[in-house]
Amino acid sequence: MKDKIRMQFLGATGYVTGSRILVETDHTRLYVDAGLYQGPSYVEERNFIPLETDPSRIHAIFLTHAHIDHTGLLPLLVKKGFRGEIFATPGTRDLLQILLPDAGRIQEEEYKFYSKKKIRDYELTGPLFTEEDALNTLSLIQAVPFNTPFPYRDFTATYYWAGHILGAAQLRLEALNRSIHFSGDLGPREPILHRPRENPLPADYVVVESTYGNRMHEEEDYTKKLEMAVQTILRRKSMLIIPSFAVGRTQLILYVLFKMMKDKIIPEVPVFIDSPMATRATQTYLAYPSEMLASIIKEGFFDYLQSRRIQMIEDVVDSKRLNYFSGPGIIVSASGMANGGRILHHLYNRLWDRRNVLLFIGYQAEGTLGRLILEGASRVKIFNREVPVRLEVDKINSFSAHADQEGLLEFIRLFQENEPKTLFINHGEDEARETLASKVLFFKNTRIEIPRFESTYYL
Ligand SMILES: [Zn+2]
Repeated sequence: MKDKIRMQFLGATGYVTGSRILVETDHTRLYVDAGLYQGPSYVEERNFIPLETDPSRIHAIFLTHAHIDHTGLLPLLVKKGFRGEIFATPGTRDLLQILLPDAGRIQEEEYKFYSKKKIRDYELTGPLFTEEDALNTLSLIQAVPFNTPFPYRDFTATYYWAGHILGAAQLRLEALNRSIHFSGDLGPREPILHRPRENPLPADYVVVESTYGNRMHEEEDYTKKLEMAVQTILRRKSMLIIPSFAVGRTQLILYVLFKMMKDKIIPEVPVFIDSPMATRATQTYLAYPSEMLASIIKEGFFDYLQSRRIQMIEDVVDSKRLNYFSGPGIIVSASGMANGGRILHHLYNRLWDRRNVLLFIGYQAEGTLGRLILEGASRVKIFNREVPVRLEVDKINSFSAHADQEGLLEFIRLFQENEPKTLFINHGEDEARETLASKVLFFKNTRIEIPRFESTYYL
């Protein structure tokens, strides 16, 4: 393999989680991302596949962004002996201080719930990793600024904005006179909150995500839906409950609400953020105004976040006190699929009251409480008690942190003038990857590859 780069796909091959790619020369072994598989158990079982290599042999890991499906394997690698450097943008590094320890706690809790059989089948002797493993990982992370070529051994790495979440980057790696461009997760074509993605430089090899490779985002008037929900709770003096992911989605819904109040589409309504993680994530966002759309800062969104018009609840006592708040008001709380976190308490206390409104603003996966309610369950079980679902339920479908099919094609088309040798379509289900591949008709010479698990390429 002299004078070649070896690239091996170690995750997200046919899945939208578990992202990890090995890139190596004769002198250096890197991972691009080290993500956990997330979702239904047949997907999460993949986290127990033995590692293909001793992690102490990996020199460094370059992260594209903080989402656990790109970073959640780090504590396991550290536990198994990885001692190299982890590089990330400053925003990603800061978000990981919140997300990784939480991932460790979740692993510890899950281990307690595994059946004896599962523990035997996987030959588990403990959780995949612990909060302590996650904390040990944080000290290895070094921040690398955007748009600044960064030499590392025989590689040069550069981060570019991806428009996906705070800190999210596309990554360009150069070595042996070759260039590889990794899209990371790409943001939507018209972001509402985040600074849009940058156009990539020409590259010899391109690795693109394909989460929405076979789908277009729904066009809908989300302002109208929110306006109706807010009018309803004003009329009934009740509560609007919004389950939301702590990072990205919460800040987006806060901005949309702020803008609607500012434009007098809705009147001023008390807003409560009841999720310690969402509060910390929001504080992290406040440190990076340059990663937002410039217009958002000008409109005063960050001043709003720091004002008393919005209440960030940390204390459990204050969270419980919110149960006695009769409304009108808006509670934004995690988790976004209502499968854990403080949102459960709010649903437990408010689902039965037909005056309230529940608004989902993100994808509800199979098997989650959110999905059950969205599909019209009349009673659900929370904290082992049956609760009748009587409140109004609605959903906004158009918020997305991802580029849709057209957005992905627009991105790939940017390489048309200087065609890459190979385009690798990864990080998507097979149908999405194949559909996207079938739409890339504008390249004349580029090979299109849909890598399988452990597929290896010599560049
Ligand atoms: Zn992501």
